[in-house]
Amino acid sequence: MPYQGEFANKASHFDIIKNPEVAQFLEDCDYLKPPSEEEGKAINTLFKEPPTSNENNLPERVIAIDGSNYTSNINERLPSTQIGYVKVSSVLIDMAKFRSLRVGRFVDPFRVAELQNNNDLITFTLPSANIRWKGKATVRDSFRAVVDNHLYSTKTQLTQGDPATSLRTTLFHLASRRPRDMRTEDPHRLKIHKCPTCKQGPIEVQDIPGAQYCPNPYCKAEVYPSDCLRLWEEVNEHQSNEAVMSRFMQVVEHLLPIHYIRYLVENSLISLGSLAFFIDRPLAIFGTAAWLHA
Ligand SMILES: [Zn+2]
Repeated sequence: MPYQGEFANKASHFDIIKNPEVAQFLEDCDYLKPPSEEEGKAINTLFKEPPTSNENNLPERVIAIDGSNYTSNINERLPSTQIGYVKVSSVLIDMAKFRSLRVGRFVDPFRVAELQNNNDLITFTLPSANIRWKGKATVRDSFRAVVDNHLYSTKTQLTQGDPATSLRTTLFHLASRRPRDMRTEDPHRLKIHKCPTCKQGPIEVQDIPGAQYCPNPYCKAEVYPSDCLRLWEEVNEHQSNEAVMSRFMQVVEHLLPIHYIRYLVENSLISLGSLAFFIDRPLAIFGTAAWLHA
């Protein structure tokens, strides 16, 4: 009998691979296995020693970006009612100060803590299963509205009160450069591949603060510039939306360096030359928002 709140440990089912039927199944499958010594040597020939770094060529400053996401039930009752919470932080590290942290054999923990004070944390609360925001009809519509609101909000604006420095405007700059039919050649306009309500498209929207609507006269539903990310396609009404939360986090982590670069190009081009970015994840974006990577 389990303790209250105790669930079966999935790891205890590892005996399943000893089952003859499963063993036979695995015999017929291909999957990544540790390489043999021969294979290891072959892989090794693909790599070469990195050049010795010249300290003077290293960037003077580094911006490191990392995110995390959580999904939480607002109570234990059914139906499952969840909200998502995404945090993305960026820290600016001065490399000269960073190199001076080492005192003899040790690193001064107080000075490390001081260095980390130079950070910026953006939090995004998102609707998940069974949560509808400000009278929206569905979780999906709520998610779309909330995402657009977040990306346009002052918390993403590099100059407070100037929406042209918001993450959503950075998204316009990227989306307007998409290839072929989706290109607009104008960073104030972008195309959404289809209306999330009537599924007709593409639809062009502008970088303006007011509400915008689907041009289909039989639809006229509200459309949001950030619908172009297509995150809404994966939103579930009554089930966990962890995959979407993770995708949203990934998108923001990718948008942020471009966001800083856009700001520096417009305001201090010279400082861009001495800056490097670190993102703690693969540079690929998977799923419906994959176009953003290109
Ligand atoms: Zn429509």
